[in-house]
Amino acid sequence: MELKFVGTSSGKSSLKRYHSSFIINSGSYNLLVDAGDGISRALMNQKILFNFIDGILISHLHPDHYTGLPSLIVQMKMSERKNPLYVFCDEINSQFIKEFIYQSYLFDDRLGFKVNVQSFKQDKNFEVTEGLNFTARQNSHLERNLSSDKSRRLSFSCSSFLIRVSERSRLESGKEKNIFFTGDIAEQNDLYIFKDMKIDLMISEITHITVEELIEAFQKLKPQKLYITHLGEEDENKVSKLSYQLPASERRKVVAAFDGLSVKI
Ligand SMILES: [Zn+2]
Ligand SMILES: [Zn+2]
Repeated sequence: MELKFVGTSSGKSSLKRYHSSFIINSGSYNLLVDAGDGISRALMNQKILFNFIDGILISHLHPDHYTGLPSLIVQMKMSERKNPLYVFCDEINSQFIKEFIYQSYLFDDRLGFKVNVQSFKQDKNFEVTEGLNFTARQNSHLERNLSSDKSRRLSFSCSSFLIRVSERSRLESGKEKNIFFTGDIAEQNDLYIFKDMKIDLMISEITHITVEELIEAFQKLKPQKLYITHLGEEDENKVSKLSYQLPASERRKVVAAFDGLSVKI
């Protein structure tokens, strides 16, 4: 089982990092989490074949998290994909995602493979495949971004996830890894959205919260490791500040992610 960071940038375009995205490999399935602008190039940059991806999980509809999807599907077609592709999104967003794909002229019969958009419900376990499932909980990231144009209907769903991954051989022994991915959040409370669950690994953004808030959450939730992603240039200073504020024994448990960082889980 492996966790690989494909991109680690915030919503700000950067020449150093691609937008935040990672792959969870369960041994037999590869789940790409988020597919923002430039995701196809980000995958190429890591020498990851497009058709290595079995499913794509979308956290929310900010461009750095989903707009690379149609282009990635095109790349899959040009790489002669045959296997179906699964796209997982909140039930509120699924019609839009289907339209987004369709309006990009991507039709199953022309692609040569099926694109299945499957929707998940908040706070319900969703099984991706045997040994890989997740629960989504809505955080407050988009609540403050309400459009001033009240005539437009928009979805403000933004999920944090608890992703459970287990190799088949480990399934029965219950040795699964619980990965808490904050997704984009808005405030301190969002860091505790899965505090009732066992958390082995934590992947957190750092753009929308303070260093002190993240340290406090790390010390309370006690994951074995904390990976920090969604890093704008200004956020890199926050990560160095965070390291200095931690005792040496905890410092090695906190890792600033970079594009290409690969971790055995
Ligand atoms: Zn973002
Ligand atoms: Zn966002």
